[in-house]
Amino acid sequence: MIIDGKQAAAELRKQLSVQVDQLQQEKNIIPGLTVILVGEDPASEVYVRNKVRQTRELGMNSNEIRLPADTGEAELLARLEQLNRDSEVHGILVQLPLPAHIDEARILAAIDPQKDVDGFHALNSGRLFNGSGDALVPCTPQGCVILAKRHLGNDLNGKHAVVIGRSNIVGKPVAILLLQENCTVTIAHSRTENLAGLCRQADILVAAVGRPHFVRGDWIKPGATVIDVGINRIADAGGKSRLVGDVDYQAAVEVAGAITPVPGGVGPMTIACLLKNTLAAARRYG
Ligand code: NDP
Repeated sequence: MIIDGKQAAAELRKQLSVQVDQLQQEKNIIPGLTVILVGEDPASEVYVRNKVRQTRELGMNSNEIRLPADTGEAELLARLEQLNRDSEVHGILVQLPLPAHIDEARILAAIDPQKDVDGFHALNSGRLFNGSGDALVPCTPQGCVILAKRHLGNDLNGKHAVVIGRSNIVGKPVAILLLQENCTVTIAHSRTENLAGLCRQADILVAAVGRPHFVRGDWIKPGATVIDVGINRIADAGGKSRLVGDVDYQAAVEVAGAITPVPGGVGPMTIACLLKNTLAAARRYG
């Protein structure tokens, strides 16, 4: 089975759209998301454009702030301070990566945790870790779990989940979410020994490595659910570039019970979950 992330994201957006209308009718609140883009990274420009478009399509307010690549840290902090105080802004997202002269950690820490719709602020990481229920949870990990549940009928109880990758953005939070779903979770990384053997034990395999076709078909347990987070641009035989995941899809699709394609798998869910977080922030704190 191919797990269709586009379809899952469209379904989620449809549900959110109803909830956005309800919030406006009941409390006269229109959720508002502001995205800040510093510099002109082409991939970031595409992501920001998609985020802004989809926010508007859902009936939310969307604002985009574009700053030149030489913007100073102090100016960015001042902008964030303004947005933190603005009651019409419920979600703030600073598109990463930032230019090298800006301290990313300091910027993320300056976003009001109540508006931190990327879920990267330490307070939200802590809440996620504590399982306190009121965390704004990073978007890609949320998307991974929704897609895994889509195949496994909502019940991940007792499954052995292997997550390859331990970044704060994907690997660690997806591992915590899977633990909350009562999976037995193993987190693998670049120092893990016998990675292939470990992956062969996985009922759910999440690949968040950033290396094209890293996970081979014979690493996958027959029938496993494979969630491929990787987005890697490679040149194909004709010299054109295309996107591939961290999993050798052609081989894996023969063995897995279900697998997310790249593109069209986890990627679309990431933006849908960003909209979900923006709505949650507006509901809770608007
Ligand atoms: P990072 O580079 O921050 O983390 C990569 C992880 O992979 C690290 O923990 C690293 O281990 C591990 N790793 C690297 N090499 C190996 C190896 N040989 N064996 C085992 N583990 C290894 O990447 P991100 O987490 O930010 O992103 C991962 C991928 O997901 C990228 O392709 C990225 O583009 C994609 N992505 C996709 C999103 C989406 O919306 N679909 C959103 C975010 C990311 P160690 O810690 O030991 O170095």
